[in-house]
Amino acid sequence: MRNIVLMGPPGAGKGTQAGDLASRYHIPHISTGDMFREAIKNKTPLGQKAEAIIARGDLVPDDVTVALVKERLSQPDCAEGYLLDGFPRTIPQAEALDEIGKAIGRAVNAVIDITVPEEILIDRIGGRRVCPKCGASYHVRNMKPKVEGKCDVCGSDLITRKDDNAESFKVRLDNYYRQTAPVSDFYKNKGLLHTFDGTGGKEKLQGVLFAFLDRLS
Ligand code: AMP
Repeated sequence: MRNIVLMGPPGAGKGTQAGDLASRYHIPHISTGDMFREAIKNKTPLGQKAEAIIARGDLVPDDVTVALVKERLSQPDCAEGYLLDGFPRTIPQAEALDEIGKAIGRAVNAVIDITVPEEILIDRIGGRRVCPKCGASYHVRNMKPKVEGKCDVCGSDLITRKDDNAESFKVRLDNYYRQTAPVSDFYKNKGLLHTFDGTGGKEKLQGVLFAFLDRLS
């Protein structure tokens, strides 16, 4: 069973790895960031609540985020496991996930923490371009799309995320150190934390993660 949490600061490569991991292990990729962006695009009440918070780099309140994940993890496609990307980001969220895991009989059994030094994160976020349609992520120098400005997967025009500007990034990184880094310790204390170096490029990290998760049963 693979009930996995993917952690790391903004720009660590969570989103880049998540799609391939989810397909290899036939588990849903659940990104709270993607869910919020979808809600914003569709102008739902959730989207309206979250839009300004996300644009400035702050965290959406725990009760809202937990309710979203609880509902998502109760869906039948999570019966064989799940890959959470960007959740939990606070200790109360991690505690809530413990409860949800117990309730659905699918407690987290591995936490992957991707570490990358701050100067590399700044460069990655500054050059990041994303596909608004399928969520694929690129970089203007390090991970170029085949055709400039177009998504390799679905051909849509790539955009810069609203929160990938210097100001919001600073807030996100700050929130990460203050609120999310303690979540690593929370899982370390449970013996679930596995730390991986995220500086070596997409393929290198993917190989290491596949090797680790292939062994996880
Ligand atoms: P991400 O795509 O994971 O970088 O998330 C984008 C933004 O969505 C974050 O900067 C937060 O504003 C919000 N967000 C995503 N996941 C969470 C979470 N677990 N808790 C609170 N806010 C979140």
